[in-house]
Amino acid sequence: MSQAAPKQTHVPLLDVNRGNQALHAEIMEAIESVVTSGRFLHGPDVGELECKIAGVCETKHAIGCASGSDALLLALMSLDIQPGDEVIVPSFTFFATASAVSRLGAIPVFVDIDPHTYNIDASLIEGNISSRTRAIIPVHLFGQCAAMDRICGIGQSHNITVIEDAAQAIGATYLDRPAGSWGEMGCLSFYPTKNLGGMGDGGMMVCHSDTLASKLRLLASHGMSPRYYHKVLGINSRLDTIQAAVLRVKMAYLQAYSDARQRNAARYDDLLSKHGLTQWFELPYHAPEAGHVWNQYGIRVHSGLRDAMRRHLTEMGIGNEVYYPVPLHQQECFRELGYATGSLPETETAAAEILHLPIYPELTESEQDMVVEGIKRFYASATLRRAA
Ligand SMILES: *Cc1c(COP(=O)(O)O)cnc(C)c1O
Repeated sequence: MSQAAPKQTHVPLLDVNRGNQALHAEIMEAIESVVTSGRFLHGPDVGELECKIAGVCETKHAIGCASGSDALLLALMSLDIQPGDEVIVPSFTFFATASAVSRLGAIPVFVDIDPHTYNIDASLIEGNISSRTRAIIPVHLFGQCAAMDRICGIGQSHNITVIEDAAQAIGATYLDRPAGSWGEMGCLSFYPTKNLGGMGDGGMMVCHSDTLASKLRLLASHGMSPRYYHKVLGINSRLDTIQAAVLRVKMAYLQAYSDARQRNAARYDDLLSKHGLTQWFELPYHAPEAGHVWNQYGIRVHSGLRDAMRRHLTEMGIGNEVYYPVPLHQQECFRELGYATGSLPETETAAAEILHLPIYPELTESEQDMVVEGIKRFYASATLRRAA
């Protein structure tokens, strides 16, 4: 769907430059030392970032790789997933959660979401388990963890591996335990829009098990050990040293970024309620068990007004986005999996109603006020039209 370009963007959906510019000197110094060293792969920057990430995730191991998508692929490869195996995933997520499954010839089994958290509905998982089910990939969507106590319980009782897609949830917790530490493996992304965003692609896998950790490392480096002896069919997936150096600088601010996102979310909740706007839409639900890190802030607009509100905000120069407009079970590339429209009703409704607002850490209070004002004006004119 194309939209009229705004004359001027008053509030960007995301401005990565604000965070990065504040650290410009530190980042340039880190990059320069990599350039000077001439070591562009591995090296202390990668190792130390892995240690720090393992610390945040409270796992024994962290293994860098080229992207969050590769982290998911490698996690599945480490389980020796075979063609025809099934992996349970939500449909309301970014494409990579399911493409990793299909890449290996396995079958993504899409499960509907809890309409409040937008995460996989744990009560629907057991009904989708078959003798071919090898893994469950809960996604911690928008920065809020799925119901990991229940999901890991199901995994244990059926002997099925749980891989957390924590791409949007570094630093999040569930019942005070960090995202990535619940399942057998956790997958992180450093794509620039994520809470810890690099200057390009990057990813990491975290786990507790020594065996899994060495398997993941082996698979990420061509299955090669020692050099030029290939034990298993691996891929080339490394975290570049320059990325690791940048991420090490930014890592020191991760808690501050999460705090700022939480502050922004609380302020939206407050302002949108105070202006009486919550009679028109739902604020994002925050589960009491979840330490939410707010990668995204999505309101839920009923009565078919979502797209009209989008257009209105865009015309006012207020950044907004829909994550995600087409659920995976309705994507063209997954058509042969045979999911009919209506097969995952909560997922389909959420995709039609959700609307995301700017939430990044450096968003100012006056910008937030403009976003709220934009929404207020939309309902004022919608109410007027209805009265006329
Ligand atoms: C971003 C993202 C990924 C993929 O990460 P990349 O680093 O972009 O490959 C996977 N899953 C989810 C839920 C994501 O948001």
